Amino acid sequence: MVFKVYNTLKRKKEEFKEIEKGQVNMYSCGPTVYNFAHIGNFRAMIFSDLVRRYLKYKGYKLKHVMNITDVDDKTIRDSRKEGVTLKEFTERYTKYFFEDLETLNVENVDIYPRATEHIKEMVNLVKNLLDKGYAYKAEDAIYFNIKKFKDYGKLSHLKIDELKAGARVANDEYDKDNAHDFALWKFWDENDGDVFWETELGKGRPGWHIECSAMSMKYLGESFDIHTGGVDLIFPHHENEIAQSEAATGKEFVKYWLHNEHLLVENKKMSKSLGNFYTLRDLLEKKYNPMAIRYVLMATHYRQKLNFTFETLEAADNAIKRLEEFMEKLDEFNGQSNNPKVAEIIEKARNDFEDAMDDDFNVSITLSAVFDFVKEINKLIMNNKMSSKDAENVISLMNKFDSVLGILKKQEKEELSKEIKQLIEKRQEARKNKDWAEADKIRDELKEKGIIIKDTKEGVRWEKIN
Ligand code: AMP
Ligand code: ZN
Repeated sequence: MVFKVYNTLKRKKEEFKEIEKGQVNMYSCGPTVYNFAHIGNFRAMIFSDLVRRYLKYKGYKLKHVMNITDVDDKTIRDSRKEGVTLKEFTERYTKYFFEDLETLNVENVDIYPRATEHIKEMVNLVKNLLDKGYAYKAEDAIYFNIKKFKDYGKLSHLKIDELKAGARVANDEYDKDNAHDFALWKFWDENDGDVFWETELGKGRPGWHIECSAMSMKYLGESFDIHTGGVDLIFPHHENEIAQSEAATGKEFVKYWLHNEHLLVENKKMSKSLGNFYTLRDLLEKKYNPMAIRYVLMATHYRQKLNFTFETLEAADNAIKRLEEFMEKLDEFNGQSNNPKVAEIIEKARNDFEDAMDDDFNVSITLSAVFDFVKEINKLIMNNKMSSKDAENVISLMNKFDSVLGILKKQEKEELSKEIKQLIEKRQEARKNKDWAEADKIRDELKEKGIIIKDTKEGVRWEKIN
């Protein structure tokens, strides 16, 4: 089966072909850090995490960047309302965001660039656009001239012919009916308080869209493979990113645009006034299992709207318990006779899993493949129709699956370094030769490196200490 992803740019599924063999460069639009992120935001983060994990599963080398928007209309407005500096305000919510990602077992990406730390790169990009005639200076800001960029609208399939020439929008956020020239650099006014940079462009601060062009190209090159974000970002944010980047470089900016649909709560758009607005912390306070939350946010195909309900959350909790019990049973399983059927079942499960993921991350089918596998193997366990070695092979496939899904307990997945593995083997060797002094010496050495060794009936077990 070929690996296919749905490309918003082409409005269809396409075979995935990386630009540089074996290497994937990917950018995910990250949070605007002006509040606790809500579960809709985490749907976007968990989707990019799933893409990330599956690319690694398939053996690609990955460079993954996620920006932190720490200056824009909203962060400035709310930090001023609270009377704290922009930095103090955004650092607080950035810290909460990272804590939440860890709670949800979302892997760290390689680089989390902050907008405020890349003003120079943004200024250079705007200067380039001014030089090439794509940008112009007005009273309140430097604007991008969308009429000048002939491909404007190609991502959101927007026709701009009807637009009045030179109509402008200064706000960071606006809708398709207001597809106007947008602000690249906003000159300071009193609403921005002490938030400004003195630059060659004048005293001011960047518009929202320019950061993602400047930072993605800095870390991933002028053309890269994948860009992700929620559907609300298709217009104007990603449309503007394409315009800024391609006007500046003359090259295709991004090959595959992947967008996740929104999360609804009880079939309605989340909103504070409806009382159906949840941050991750709201759910944790209600004592929900974070892995069940991850499961719910992941289990609906990313291009469908996800209707979040508390019933689905409970069902997810049960699903995870079933998987954990299965892993425990396998761990304790003791059986003598190898069953050739196990290898067949493993092979089928692996194929079903990969076929579903290869088909534009069809995760609901992927999960049914996992549960079918669990059911089949459970039958063999109950009837004692496999060996301990078979059980080990099953565990190893489950761990492989979980390197993509990320829903099982973390400690199962930790990998040992080569050096530690060699020490453990050396110690086994010493024990076999009844060289107890040597074996004890190696045990102490491992302990110093943070690894505790236990000798059990089933063999050596290890544990990491902090
Ligand atoms: P923001 O912090 O608003 O810039 O959003 C961060 C990410 O969350 C973006 O990729 C958004 O598209 C995404 N997002 C925002 N609301 C939702 C939602 N209700 N469901 C899914 N994704 C969302
Ligand atoms: Zn962005």
